[in-house]
Amino acid sequence: MKIVFATKNEGKVREINEMLGSTDIALLSLNHFEFLPEIIEDGKTYLENALKKAKIISEYTGEIVLADDSGLQVDFLGGDPGVYSARYAGEGATDEENNAKLLDKLKDVPQEKRTASFFCALVLYHPDGHYQSFEARWRGLIIGERRGTNGFGYDPIFLSTEWNKTAAELPADIKNTISHRGQAFAKLKSHLNKDIKTKKVGA
Ligand code: IMP
Repeated sequence: MKIVFATKNEGKVREINEMLGSTDIALLSLNHFEFLPEIIEDGKTYLENALKKAKIISEYTGEIVLADDSGLQVDFLGGDPGVYSARYAGEGATDEENNAKLLDKLKDVPQEKRTASFFCALVLYHPDGHYQSFEARWRGLIIGERRGTNGFGYDPIFLSTEWNKTAAELPADIKNTISHRGQAFAKLKSHLNKDIKTKKVGA
C-alpha cells in the first residue's frame, strides 16, 4: 500500500518508517511532488490541523495521505503553547528560543505545578473523502534547566517522570515507544494491520 506522508522532513519519514516496521506500506514524503499547495496551519486543535493538511494533499495528489500535528501543553499556562508550540517565541523561532520563553514563564513556578503533556494527532485520509484519526498524549513535567542532547523541540526540558529522564536524555527507541507520536503511530499501525488482514481475507 502506498501512503503519502504530508511532510518534507525526511528524518520524520525515516522515524515513521521505523515505527511502522513490518507493515506492507511504502511511505512517500512530499519531496516527491512539485508545486504543492500552500497550507496554513490555523486550526484550533491538532486534529483540525492534521485533517486540513491531509485533505489538501490528498485532493492534490489523489493518494492516501497521512498527516500529523503535535505540540506541548503546560497545565499552569492553561494549555499554552499548544498548537502554537513551533512558533511560541514568534514566527520562525528556534527550539532554543521557544525553550527559553517557556522556562522564563515558569521561572517562579514550583515543581509540583509544572505538569505538562505532549499531544499528537494523526489523520489517514482517503481520496474518496473518508478518514481515520488517532490521538495520543505523553504526560511529564517541565524542569527548570535543559538536560540531554537527543531529539528536538522541547525535549531537553520535558521530563518523563516514569524514566526520570528528559525526552532529550532518552534513547530514540525508548522515546519512540512511549511518546505521544509513538503511541499515536502504534494505534495507526494496529489499524493498518487489521485493514490489510481484512483486505487479504476479502480478496
Ligand atoms: P509539528 O507537529 O511538527 O508541527 O510540531 C509542533 C511543535 O511541537 C514542534 O516544533 C515542537 O516544538 C513541539 N513538539 C512536538 N513533538 C515534540 C517532541 O516529541 N519533542 C519536542 N517537541 C515537540
